[in-house]
Amino acid sequence: MPRKPLIAANWKMYKTPAQAQEYVKLFLPLVANHERDEVVLCPSFTSLSVVIAAVTGSGVGVGAQNMYSAEEGAFTGETSPLMLKAIGATHVILGHSERRQYFAETDESVNRKLKMALKHELTPIVCVGEVLAEREAGKTEEVLLRQTRGVLAGITAAEAAPMVIAYEPVWAIGTGKTATPQIASEAHRVIRGEVEKLLGAETAAALRILYGGSVKPDNATALMAEEEIDGALVGGASLDAQSFGKIVNY
Ligand code: PEP
Repeated sequence: MPRKPLIAANWKMYKTPAQAQEYVKLFLPLVANHERDEVVLCPSFTSLSVVIAAVTGSGVGVGAQNMYSAEEGAFTGETSPLMLKAIGATHVILGHSERRQYFAETDESVNRKLKMALKHELTPIVCVGEVLAEREAGKTEEVLLRQTRGVLAGITAAEAAPMVIAYEPVWAIGTGKTATPQIASEAHRVIRGEVEKLLGAETAAALRILYGGSVKPDNATALMAEEEIDGALVGGASLDAQSFGKIVNY
């Protein structure tokens, strides 16, 4: 079965609810009847509800950029998967490199969140990727294997089935430096190979692996042409509706 590409917008900490609503108004006509790819918008928590209401009936999904690994409790400032489900979110980004870098997320905490997202039927978009020093030291493969094993620890093939992985080389995020389609494909093969070892050939073959890192309208087509690349996680270039519309319509 071919893997349906997923193109997700990560708005990071940008846009008020009013700005988010305005974006959706401009964006939906650009992707009307778009069936080739699954399209998801990931606004910040305060804009989730307005974006969910605004995309109703369009086929566009809405995801959170993070969540906590408990259903409820004394965890001030955190958001539970039950809360995301209750408002109609469909996806959640987990382990983004900015969360690993600034908020001390680790493979272990991402693993706990992943289990919880799968339990509550939120489609997790789990981010992995090496930093520049690791790439320059020839450690990319080692890092990807460690992260893939770490985030998948204790998860069965049946549980993991809805999961999506995003390969996001940290040196390419927000820097304007994009991995070449070949570099991205090579990394995706490493990740898929490890998932095959851990969860079997069927799960690995069905797993969608997105590329993220300075995806723009002018490089999306070349990246998406790679058999190994099953979509994109787009940061900066997703903040403008026209620009993200062009990427979705690569
Ligand atoms: C991201 O935030 O996941 C990302 C890939 O950002 P950018 O597209 O700006 O590099």
